[in-house]
Amino acid sequence: MPTSLVTGGAGFLGSHLCEALLAQGQRVICLDNLETGSLANIEHLRDDAFAFIHHDVSEPIAVAEPLDFVYHLAALASPIDYMRLPLHSLKTGSYGTHHALGLAKWKRARFLLASTSEVYGDPEVHPQPETYWGNVNPIGPRGVYDEAKRYAEALTMAYNRQQGVDTGIIRIFNTYGPRMRPNDGRAIPNFLSQALAEKPLTVYGDGSQTRSFCYVDDLIRGLVLLAESGEHLPVNIGNPGEYTILQLAEAVLAATGSPSQIVHEALPIDDPQVRQPDITRARQILGWEPEIPLDEGLRRTLASLPRNPARA
Ligand code: UDP
Repeated sequence: MPTSLVTGGAGFLGSHLCEALLAQGQRVICLDNLETGSLANIEHLRDDAFAFIHHDVSEPIAVAEPLDFVYHLAALASPIDYMRLPLHSLKTGSYGTHHALGLAKWKRARFLLASTSEVYGDPEVHPQPETYWGNVNPIGPRGVYDEAKRYAEALTMAYNRQQGVDTGIIRIFNTYGPRMRPNDGRAIPNFLSQALAEKPLTVYGDGSQTRSFCYVDDLIRGLVLLAESGEHLPVNIGNPGEYTILQLAEAVLAATGSPSQIVHEALPIDDPQVRQPDITRARQILGWEPEIPLDEGLRRTLASLPRNPARA
């Protein structure tokens, strides 16, 4: 069976990916600096086929054994984290991606870059196909994440074209599910934590901005299909079901049965107004479709939370 190395493997998406690869019978090496990931996310993966290395990808990566896949997921993905650590975000996207690509080249492994819908910025094309070049403010507070990922895509394509490395790029749209940190700062964990604590749900701005939320199992299935394909150009993976943030808050209230009110707070700078993936390429190339709608995904996420009253 193949061996995969997963950078950011102790994070939200990374830990689900490690689990899925182990379930396939793969050997998995998980690399994480534990800045936003945690050992609690991977402690259930006690398996002879699983190894954890505590390492920051902005430093060179050396692994003795052969590798078949390098999945590069390490990043500060939540706005509150990349705004807290802007230089670290840029280094992870630049040096970190360089090191992960160098490792893939050395091992002759297929490399998968976890890119993002943030490469489209505040989009002027809606929904967003992979051919859209985006509308990103390079010097705004989100630029440290968006531009790091855009640079990482450019580096990945250069390693593919000039160095012959077998690479793939997944553009991940908003994803949620079990093991997101309650204090992650993003809309779904915030709203779930607030609803369960019977505190007001904080909708930023008037809540008319939209996002499209993909349940984690669907996302990981798409990522593994992309790894198994020979595709080099970016592929959007996300759920095209588009909701305003106000609708999302109402869906969380319905799912939790919480009596919380909705309050409005200031809209963050450069907050994208709309976001919805065009998944034509994922359908055609991977035969991939999301299967889990928002209400079902929220129900599953809720069932995983220790403070869920339904479990008490
Ligand atoms: N958001 C909100 N309240 C929160 C957290 C986020 O209204 O407590 C909004 C945020 O302004 C954005 C949307 O929800 O418009 C999604 O934000 P998130 O941080 O989850 O992801 P991203 O902005 O990276 O898509």
